[in-house]
This record gives sequence, structure tokens and C-alpha cells, in this order.
Amino acid sequence: MNAKQCLEYRLGEEELPAQWYNFLLDLPKPLPPVEDVHVPPSAEIMAKIRPVELLRQNAPSEPWVAIPDPVRERLLQIGRPTPLRRALALEAALQTRARIYIKREDTLVTGSFKVGTAVAQAYYAKEEGRDSLVSETGAGQWGMSLALVSQMFGLKCKIFMTRCSLEQKRYRDHYMRLLGTEVSPSPSRSTEIGRRLLEQHPGHPGTMGTAISEAIETALATPGAAYLSGSNVNHVHLHQTLLGQEVRAQLALAGEHGPDQLIACVSGGSNLCGFMLPFLPDKKAGRAVSFLGAESTAAPRLTQGTYEYCSSDPAGYTPRVLAYSMGPDFIPLPVHAGGLRQHNSSPLVSLLRKEGLLDATAIEEREAFEAGRLLLRTEGFLVAPESAHAVAAAIQAALRARADGSDPCIVVLGSGSGMLDLEGYRQVLL
Ligand SMILES: *Cc1c(COP(=O)(O)O)cnc(C)c1O
Repeated sequence: MNAKQCLEYRLGEEELPAQWYNFLLDLPKPLPPVEDVHVPPSAEIMAKIRPVELLRQNAPSEPWVAIPDPVRERLLQIGRPTPLRRALALEAALQTRARIYIKREDTLVTGSFKVGTAVAQAYYAKEEGRDSLVSETGAGQWGMSLALVSQMFGLKCKIFMTRCSLEQKRYRDHYMRLLGTEVSPSPSRSTEIGRRLLEQHPGHPGTMGTAISEAIETALATPGAAYLSGSNVNHVHLHQTLLGQEVRAQLALAGEHGPDQLIACVSGGSNLCGFMLPFLPDKKAGRAVSFLGAESTAAPRLTQGTYEYCSSDPAGYTPRVLAYSMGPDFIPLPVHAGGLRQHNSSPLVSLLRKEGLLDATAIEEREAFEAGRLLLRTEGFLVAPESAHAVAAAIQAALRARADGSDPCIVVLGSGSGMLDLEGYRQVLL
């Protein structure tokens, strides 16, 4: 190795990737068709409320999609490229010969990787003449990201936030409202589907699904509104491929030939796919790089779910997709990792799992928080409860390496910051 040993590998502004990587062309099989059973069809609904360019980016024909210059400028402004940390202190604490690297998405201005796709999506909404954004949020990281970019592009913003997360994470609500965003708990009484759900389950804690239904109903009823998503759909995963591209360049700086294992937490799969799929060509070329997704035991879709057609929202506005699912009526326990509380996975993550490209493990909430605490005590930064699931899985992998005497290069994605989740850490650990 002639590379310089550093604690954090940083890329300059000019090294921000100029393109998004279209992984669809490298998948072992095409994505299965969706079942569009809604009346009127979901495709018609989405054509009304989604910016056209985002619909196109769900299945681009080109292998690399150019990032518009104004989007690149904003990506620099929000803190891309993010550093890659060599977790020497964590390695020492675990007494492992594994080399552990952490991609630090927690350093972005809103505290999570989600703000990258938010910039791109708001840009296209504005370009196409929309004047407001409507969306759902689970733990609130996506909502915060949209709230910020709505201001950057001079757009109004309305967010439905899962009720239990809103109650757990009040500061997320304060941040969004500080930016002029209107925040409503989901289920709410402001939509038809919200009222129906509250009648069926008074005190319903809300799920990503309930918030999706309410956001779509609202976007349909609001002229000029664009409905945007923080995960689950291809164009979002596409925008997040900056993560893996940056990691590739940073590992080269560190003198690594490449990762042996990539680990990320997984819900809709945007952080996992964006981080891992740029390494798909390496896998295809026969390099032994493994992909591991860490999910929550509160929604163990990839380890215990069924591969079946299911809808992502109770109103059925989104098309039925083939994905690992706990069934449409499953309401996950209100764990603190709100970003991992979804009854189904995305079709893309599910295909990777089905085709044997993705391993999965389910992590208990307590183990995740303990991993987050160990990372704080060793490396000095606090990751989000969702990211802590990935850290826990990386710790397990590093301990296995200690047991079998191997020295793998493990890269784990720190998808977000935990500074606004201290209440969750307190409730579980203190
Ligand atoms: C949203 C979120 C996740 C999970 O979403 P994916 O689409 O599966 O990536 C994980 N971590 C953080 C910090 C999040 O905000």
C-alpha cells in the first residue's frame, strides 16, 4: 500500500461525482412488473402528482444520468462529498483485525443522507412549474430534508409525519416548522383515509403507509403540488448512488483494493442501494464483495416476510409491487428507529435478496442502541437509531473476523446523525 494512512478520507468539491449510476442495467434480472389495480390507475395518479423527469428516472435508458449543475451546487452546499472514517478506535475496542470504515452521512446539514435526493427532486419539481411539495415522513429525516430544500427552491411544503415518531421526535417537527413547512401527524383528520383509519384503530400510531396515503390524497387535492418520496422508488435509489461512488474513490485513497463487506440498514432501501449498487459491477466481475442489510426486528421483512404482491399504502394509491412483506395490515411496534418501520420492502431490495445478492439480518432495538453508544464512546459521534442497526451488524461481523482470524475490509454506512434521537437513546439505555 502506498496510500496515506488517514483517520478520515475526504474528497474535494471537484471530486463530487458528476453522474448518477443507473444500476438497473446491471441487475441480474429485470424488476418484476407492478400490479396496477387502483381505480383510477396508480400510473395515472402518479403522472398527475410526480414531476415528469422523476418518472423518467424510474427507468432511465442511459447507464449514467447527468446531474444538472444547479443540483451539483446544492449538493456541495448541503455537505457532499461526505468523509469516510477509518474506525481505528472501534477496531481497537473490538480487538479485531477487520478494517472498519464508516461513511459519514451524519455530517450532512440535515443530519441524514436523504437531503441529497431531496435537492434533486425539488429541483425538478420547480423546473416543471410546481409551487408546493407534499410528502410523508417516518422518523422525520426525510421531512427535514424536504423542508430545507423547499426553502432553497422557493416552494411551499406539507409533510405527514407518522404520529408515534412525531411524539418521539419533537425537534424534527420544530426544525420543519422553522423552515415554514406545515407538519401534520398521520393518521390525521384532514384526509378521508386518515379519518377512516382513526375510526378503525383509535390511537393508531401511524406507519409509513398511512402517511403515504394521506400525502397522495392531499397532493391530488392541491393544484400545483408535487408528490415526492424519500425512499422505495427507483429514482430515489438512483440519486443516492453518489454514496457508493464516493466510497469507491475514498477506499482507493486508503489503499484498499475494494470492500469485502458492505453493511447498511434497510427499510425502503435507498441508503443501502445507493451505497452498495455502484459495486454491483465488481460483484458481476467475480470480486467477492458481500452486501448485508440490517433491518429492525420490529419489521423483519427480509428475514421473515413473504415475497408477494402487496401495496405500500392502505389507500392503495401506490401500485401493488412484488416485495418481501409482513402483510398490508401489519403495524410495526413504535420503535425509535422510525425510518425502519415499514410493512414491506422495496421491489429492488427484494429482488436483490431473492436473487441471492443481498444478505439480511434483523437487529433488536437494544442491541442497535448499544452499538450506537459504543461508536460514540470510541469514535466520538452519535449515529441515528436506524444507522445503529448497521453498526450493530458491523460489530457482529468484526467479532466473527476476530473469532476466525480474518482481516476483512468492512464498510458500514452511517446513514444519519443521532443528535435529535437522544430521547430514544435515553429511554432504552439510561
Ligand atoms: C430514512 C432513513 C433510513 C432508512 O431508509 P432507506 O430508504 O431504507 O435507506 C435509514 N437511516 C436514516 C438516517 C434515514 O433517515
